[in-house]
Amino acid sequence: MNAHPVRSFAGDEIIFKEGDVGDCAYLIEKGRVLVFVNKEETEVPLKVIGAGEVFGEMSLIDDSLRSASCRAIGDVQLIVVTKEQLLDRIRMADPVVRLLMQVLLERLRSQNDILRGKIPEIAVVGDSLAKEKKEALDRIEFENRIATALNKDEFLPFYQPICDLNTGEVVGCEALVRWMSKDQGMIPPSVFMDVMEESSLILKAGQVMIEKSMADFLQIQAMFGGNPNFFVSVNVSGRQFTDPYFLEHLEASRVRYKLQASHIKLELTERIMMVGPQALAMLQVCRQRGYQLAVDDFGTGFSSLQYLAQMPLTDLKIDRSFVMKMLGEDKKSLAIVKSFIFMANILGLKLIAEGIESPEELGLLRMLGVGMGQGYLFSKPLSLEDLRKYASKAGTASAA
Ligand code: C2E
Ligand code: CA
Ligand code: CA
Repeated sequence: MNAHPVRSFAGDEIIFKEGDVGDCAYLIEKGRVLVFVNKEETEVPLKVIGAGEVFGEMSLIDDSLRSASCRAIGDVQLIVVTKEQLLDRIRMADPVVRLLMQVLLERLRSQNDILRGKIPEIAVVGDSLAKEKKEALDRIEFENRIATALNKDEFLPFYQPICDLNTGEVVGCEALVRWMSKDQGMIPPSVFMDVMEESSLILKAGQVMIEKSMADFLQIQAMFGGNPNFFVSVNVSGRQFTDPYFLEHLEASRVRYKLQASHIKLELTERIMMVGPQALAMLQVCRQRGYQLAVDDFGTGFSSLQYLAQMPLTDLKIDRSFVMKMLGEDKKSLAIVKSFIFMANILGLKLIAEGIESPEELGLLRMLGVGMGQGYLFSKPLSLEDLRKYASKAGTASAA
């Protein structure tokens, strides 16, 4: 069958029968088919479907026998959708969507049974379905916990200092979200960021991060000597950036705390460009308003010089994964870092290296001409209070 992705049937020919094992679904290219069930020797027509529609997918999804029959009305041409093709896509879907699909299927099947005059079978929930259900329910439960925590104001920024690699001076900081759970203590973004980003929760969380980091900005700037070029970097995810209210909220917070746009660096990943032309237009508006724009996690995604050149960026962040391996046996990471530096120089972008942990890494990056960096060598991300302590120590150290 795989060798014949297109199948033709003449009028009145049966395509499949109730009780058959389902091995593929069909997309109707030409013609129409009748779907029917048998009730005491007579056919009960269910529906007629035409070009562009899909049928025969139900038994593939839940691995059960065909629950209705299909017959060609006149000549039809069908494109075969294999079980693997369908299942691959279902596996990629959100677990909640998968569960909803399962529920809808069960409902459809029991309707077919009623039409056939049968009392619908009580659905037997197999192991795999139980697992799917659990996954979906866990997911919904986790989203609800995050939503409740957002309402209880349990998310706040920690700040990681960003240093001038030549002078060691703290020139800015990156705001990184932390969940301060009443019952579980501090929860890092690796636990909840994916779930947030795949739902609209990121919109509220993103707004909280912008609002709080702007509220803290003037204090932080003062902690580090009131440098007029001091900046705070805020991570912005794709969904947030393309939200129609994003700029309005950003500007409202900025005005509320009397900040200049140039004090705020928006960190975006290259994936933003996958969203399409509206993302580019938004980047341009933000840049025109004076916000700084950094490309984050550079080199880990769909890096393309073409995208990079189009984006009105100010900074390029070298991802920790390259900095980490730069001094290792494999010379590739160092070559990649050098190529990023080369590109940034051509495009006139400032460089920020992430994840600097050793004096050797610092020395090499400095030698290569990277201007700024952050990492455990300087400091881990800190609460506002701990940042104050860090700043006063750093101040004492430089005064001494
Ligand atoms: P990122 O934007 O690449 O942030 C840098 C991450 O590297 C942070 O992890 C930081 O704590 C960690 N890091 C910094 N220096 C070092 C180092 O020297 N060694 C090691 N091992 N790690 C270092 P964190 O805070 O867990 O954040 C993880 C990711 O979560 C961030 O990666 C970012 O993608 C996302 N994220 C964090 N806060 C936000 C937010 O407010 N909004 C959005 N959209 N995403 C956020
Ligand atoms: Ca970042
Ligand atoms: Ca990164």
